[in-house]
Amino acid sequence: MLDTAKTTDTQVETLLEVNNIEVIYNHVILVLKGVSLSVPKGGITALLGGNGAGKTTTLKAISNLLHSERGEVTKGSVSYRGERVQDLDPAALVQKGVIQVMEGRHCFEHLTVEENLLTGAYTRNSAAETAQDLEMVYNYFPRLKERRRSQAGYTSGGEQQMVAIGRALMSRPECILLDEPSMGLAPQLVEQIFGIVKSLNEEQGYTFLLSEQ
Ligand code: ATP
Repeated sequence: MLDTAKTTDTQVETLLEVNNIEVIYNHVILVLKGVSLSVPKGGITALLGGNGAGKTTTLKAISNLLHSERGEVTKGSVSYRGERVQDLDPAALVQKGVIQVMEGRHCFEHLTVEENLLTGAYTRNSAAETAQDLEMVYNYFPRLKERRRSQAGYTSGGEQQMVAIGRALMSRPECILLDEPSMGLAPQLVEQIFGIVKSLNEEQGYTFLLSEQ
């Protein structure tokens, strides 16, 4: 059972729309049926559900990451800014402004914190903009600036989650999908990360869709 909760209640533009989707893994395992949600521009939308409810599957259906898991959207549609996007490859969707921060953080362990962040700017080619964005990330995550020369694999779970979010920001996204950002983190860190998400939303205008239990 999945639920969505929105922080905004006024009439605003819908950025992302999931309409009645069905997802099947391995051609036979039906995991999602009739899931619909809409994400308003400039809001923080939460996708809530218990363990195994299908939150990750929903987010991967949006960012087109199901193919690598032998999953596919067999019914319904996903649109971004009114355009059907479910046939795009994930990189093309990133260029349109939608990026997913995967559950479990996923850093490049052998790269430094800063090198990890720079990989997020891979789709862009202005060195000046990249430097500016790196400063913006360090401004929101001062801890990453302190640890920028450390190998990511040796940083804490909270720092790795910050790296994963910071790396997503480096692609200059409009809409960020955050899959269970609190997973495995101490309550104090969870509070800190959600505080930063709220500031990024209010001050930089990023739209968030985040999943949590
Ligand atoms: P969690 O809180 O544990 O991350 P979730 O809500 O994100 O759970 P999903 O990971 O989307 O849930 O899983 C939904 C269901 O789909 C589960 O029953 C899971 O076992 C199944 N599932 C997920 N990935 C696959 C896969 N690649 N092949 C087959 N079944 C899968």
